[in-house]
Amino acid sequence: MRVLLVEDDDRLASALVTALARHGHTVTRAGQAVDALRLAGGADFVLLDLGLPDMDGLDLLRRLRRVSAVPVIVVTARTEERDVLRGLRSGADDYLVKPFRTAELMARMEAVVRRGTRPRPTRDDVVCVGDVRIDLGARRVTVAGEPVTLTRREFDLLAMLAREPGVVRGREEILDEVWGDPLLSASRSLDVHVANLRAKTGRPGLVETLRGTGYRLGSTA
Ligand code: CA
Repeated sequence: MRVLLVEDDDRLASALVTALARHGHTVTRAGQAVDALRLAGGADFVLLDLGLPDMDGLDLLRRLRRVSAVPVIVVTARTEERDVLRGLRSGADDYLVKPFRTAELMARMEAVVRRGTRPRPTRDDVVCVGDVRIDLGARRVTVAGEPVTLTRREFDLLAMLAREPGVVRGREEILDEVWGDPLLSASRSLDVHVANLRAKTGRPGLVETLRGTGYRLGSTA
């Protein structure tokens, strides 16, 4: 792939360029946001450092998203949930926190490409993950053709994730939408509901936990 690496740290950039080239990628590096915007049109994939000298990386990402659907992985030294979530909501496909291993980066890039840009299902669609079938309109879930009985909240939680496959939803966001209460009072209940969904479907990978960040619809493989 033609990878655009947006990174102002020379040492890290040169290490990444070497690693990406070793994996068969052609790498262009931009050390500033202004160059990144100019070069993004020719890229199949963008790796974006959030801490840039001339513009906040999230602002750059939002500008880029107005003109391009190119896959983006945000690379950040920021570990706060709020920043990571803002990144994902601003249009990043995934994120990595520095320092990370090259193998981890390559795996994440492959996963993003494999996932592709899928159209988002509407309220009445059926979302399938492996042998799990989630009927959003009829509010029914089957696993390998067998119906699974979920409580209203368990279904609402699963449906929220299923409506946007691959998108990470934060704990606060989930508590707000499903429980109508973004406060931590229901936080333990969220953990229990996630555990119930995994146990009742017998598909522990169906709801994927992103530590410190939130949840997303996973896979059953
Ligand atoms: Ca930086």
